[in-house]
Amino acid sequence: MENKCLVWFRKDLRLYDNPAIDAAKSFHHVYPLFIIDEDIYENKFLGKASIWWLENSLKSLNINMNKTLKVVKGDSLKIIPKLCEDLKINSVFWNRCYEKDRITKDTKLKNKLLANNINAKSFNANLLWEPWTIKNKSGNPYKVFTPFYRSGCLESSSPRKPLKKPEKIFFKKINSNIKEFSFNYSSIKNHWSTKFEKYWQVGENGANTNFDTFLKNGSKNYSIGRNFPGKENVSRLSPYLHWGEISPFEIWHTANSRMQGENKKIFLSEIGWREFSYHLLYNFPNLKEKNLKDNFDNFPWLENDALLKKWEKGLTGYPIVDAGMRELWETGYMHNRVRMITSSFLVKNLLQHWKYGKNWFWDCLLDADMASNSASWQWVAGTGTDATPFFRIFNPITQSQKFDENANYIKKYLPELNKLPTKLVFSPFEHDSSVLKNYGVVLGENYPYPIINYSESRKRALSTYSNFINKD
Ligand SMILES: Cc1cc2nc3c(=O)[nH]c(=O)nc-3n(C[C@H](O)[C@H](O)[C@H](O)COP(=O)(O)OP(=O)(O)OC[C@H]3O[C@@H](n4cnc5c(N)ncnc54)[C@H](O)[C@@H]3O)c2cc1C
Repeated sequence: MENKCLVWFRKDLRLYDNPAIDAAKSFHHVYPLFIIDEDIYENKFLGKASIWWLENSLKSLNINMNKTLKVVKGDSLKIIPKLCEDLKINSVFWNRCYEKDRITKDTKLKNKLLANNINAKSFNANLLWEPWTIKNKSGNPYKVFTPFYRSGCLESSSPRKPLKKPEKIFFKKINSNIKEFSFNYSSIKNHWSTKFEKYWQVGENGANTNFDTFLKNGSKNYSIGRNFPGKENVSRLSPYLHWGEISPFEIWHTANSRMQGENKKIFLSEIGWREFSYHLLYNFPNLKEKNLKDNFDNFPWLENDALLKKWEKGLTGYPIVDAGMRELWETGYMHNRVRMITSSFLVKNLLQHWKYGKNWFWDCLLDADMASNSASWQWVAGTGTDATPFFRIFNPITQSQKFDENANYIKKYLPELNKLPTKLVFSPFEHDSSVLKNYGVVLGENYPYPIINYSESRKRALSTYSNFINKD
């Protein structure tokens, strides 16, 4: 056998601090491969926004590897051993993923390759603390963030330093008759996703530029500014982190050396929330569909498709909720504070099951992530382990007055309210129709009446939750 190695990419679409690539650097031939394997939930049910991102990310990675990346569709358990046989490859390296179906399939693949005398190795590129390394004093997984992060993570070990990008690596395109796969999303004219190009530079270079800009600007007031959706204080690194275009180890160490005080402390703890979501997903693999508190399996959610559709399209009549939902539709991203407001509105005020919101986010978010999306929805709905208390219901009017006081964010995504004086924007329905008309707003015509009365729906949510919890 010649000195040949296959590197199997998944959610690690970068060259810098990529342990599988690093392990391949001394090989004469390194064959890069990406497989759309529909046995894997995330591949079979990839959201539409994620398809757009992935297609562009693979293009970018391919360019960074002198166009040697082979992208195919099929069963990884068949494709990889067959390629090893055909091309006389003696080593296969990949970075680990933490979803149950991937773990099961990766284990089968490793055993099959090892049985064929192929050196199969997996590495950690994506998590600062792999889930099985963190346990509480009784040897069980943590269920609450603060002890997980403080005692479990920070007191256990310091994340390793990032690896250097190999100076020279001999990438070679796989020459086989397995058909090259392409999503061809970008060729669909006027497709909903094409507008994302305006907002995002996908790929490793884009990730690094984003991070640099954040460190130079937004990070300086992160601890406070991150609450205000109209300010540029958040990093917008989530889609890059999801696809592994930037390394969490790089983020951790660079933020540690370049940020200070509360800004640093809070930013690193947000990275910690990502770790916690993966800790939950690994230990509770059904997180995406199963209530972590299983007594909620009998919770009396309401079913109302018409209300759900209005929420999805940003037509609830509550401007901050609508602005958030339209930001999502327009840019593939939604600011964290507004994610909390819109999700609370759906599960508490409209009493719709969190899975509907999770599914919509899954389809529309560029950072759609099984761990963070599922854990966050369960947190908001109160069905998670470290969930927000049931009586915490975000008031969309006071939240917008506090966190979007000049209504810049609302007006950006709701141009129909653009001419309204600020004090009328937060709840147009509370103002006289003749006054609104002076500013071009006619409720029921160019902006909706509220789909629900906030105070009544709040009371209903409180009594539904408290009756349910007390009965249990
Ligand atoms: C209902 C709901 C759904 C969500 N769905 C997702 C999702 O699918 N994918 C996703 O990455 N995040 C999700 N989040 C968490 C959070 O909103 C985003 O990670 C954050 O807004 C991303 O923006 P940023 O990169 O500018 O964040 P920053 O504030 O700059 O934070 C830096 C990084 O820390 C991590 N992070 C920050 N907050 C959280 C959090 N609460 N939970 C987990 N990780 C966090 C992210 O990786 C983020 O990129 C969701 C939150 C809610 C309330």
